[in-house]
Amino acid sequence: NRHFFVGGNWKCNGNKRSILELVELVNGIHVERNTGVEVVCAPPFPYLDLVRSTLKKEFGVAAQNCWIAGSGAYTGEVSADMLLDVGVEWVILGHSERRHLPELHESDETIAQKTEKALESGLGVILCIGELLQERENGKTLDVCIRQLNAVAKVVTDWQKVVVAYEPVWAIGTGKVATPERAQEVHNAVRQWFRNNISTQVADKLRIIYGGSVNGQNCGRLAGQRDIDGFLVGGASLKPEFAEIVLSHR
Ligand code: 13P
Repeated sequence: NRHFFVGGNWKCNGNKRSILELVELVNGIHVERNTGVEVVCAPPFPYLDLVRSTLKKEFGVAAQNCWIAGSGAYTGEVSADMLLDVGVEWVILGHSERRHLPELHESDETIAQKTEKALESGLGVILCIGELLQERENGKTLDVCIRQLNAVAKVVTDWQKVVVAYEPVWAIGTGKVATPERAQEVHNAVRQWFRNNISTQVADKLRIIYGGSVNGQNCGRLAGQRDIDGFLVGGASLKPEFAEIVLSHR
């Protein structure tokens, strides 16, 4: 009964022409209302307004980041209110590229602050969590995911507008997708954490989506797992196969 959710994270890619082509591609995907899939596209900041005004209304638009506070003397930042003002409904927060690129290096606390501000402003949050290869090899996968969740859980009072994206860092952009069984195991453990630490109701309703080298070939088996409620797609969201991923859950 959880509404399947597929996000296209376009990352730092595109120009006006290619972005409009992508919008056309997504607009051409036939998603049935109500029973269908929730589709959200996340273009870079300069194209949000353009995408919102050209993408069909039944599809959502997400930013890939936002600031921890409102308007003010924060050169280079974009506030949640500005995103809402141009019709953006969602924001991706805690993406591993923002956590781990040395030039960005966002902490669990910064991500929690951003989450708090975004939710308070009225945005939905796609909250990314996931372990590095070394952490996985050391058996630390769940410890890391739970540490990342704990930071955010301190500030979230209403989980209805949160989607959790489990994105093992070693699977992002590498072509090394987690096996459906392995992903299911982590998704199930994350849901169990919500059951034990938040509430059964939140655990049952929360969408936990998978990200990391999802493509048109592997999406079907992943989508068939009980606790995988959708995908956050990088590379393949820039290609026609995004349609197959959106329609992988029937
Ligand atoms: P890829 O699908 O390119 O591996 O990227 C996944 C991702 O980071 C989505 O946020």
